[in-house]
Amino acid sequence: MRCQLCLSFSWQPLCKNCLNTILAPTPSKRVLPSGLEVYSFYKYSEIKNLLHTKHTYQGAKVFSLLSKNALLPFIKNLTCKDIFALPIDDHVRSGYSHSAILVKELGFHVKPLYAKLRAQNHTRYSGQKLSVRKRNKRDFMLTCKSGIDVILVDDIITTGATLEEAYVTCKNHGVNVLCALTLADARED
Ligand SMILES: [Zn+2]
Repeated sequence: MRCQLCLSFSWQPLCKNCLNTILAPTPSKRVLPSGLEVYSFYKYSEIKNLLHTKHTYQGAKVFSLLSKNALLPFIKNLTCKDIFALPIDDHVRSGYSHSAILVKELGFHVKPLYAKLRAQNHTRYSGQKLSVRKRNKRDFMLTCKSGIDVILVDDIITTGATLEEAYVTCKNHGVNVLCALTLADARED
């Protein structure tokens, strides 16, 4: 197989060299109006083509490599214990859930909470304005226990509306959100 970026021969869809160079994470932080801190590791434009692989058969592998390369080092640096990782709406589409794969690679450092935060509204909002997104909420349903510390995990943050809604859902459920992690920040600035 070939590396999706440099096209050199590689056992994985992303080669070690690319992961260490062009895909070296550049962490950035956004604070949403609710106060939720969101850490992202790539600019959306940098990994746009890779994120689009999530609808292909290699997508699962690409997402797992990106999580190991970017999210895992961040999680390893956390000093607090007993943290749960909550993937946003990890419904299985095209064979697997991208946010669940990101969480899976975080290994023993956090406890995964699969299939606990589910959107009941599945309209796709790609390319829609914030006003449209705000009118059409995801209507999350959370089914985990309360009184725990969680980190929200998703692939992309755009307006932040989805993460804000997830945050409020957690808060109303008695779940403490420490921060959110996303692979890429798609904010246009
Ligand atoms: Zn490469």
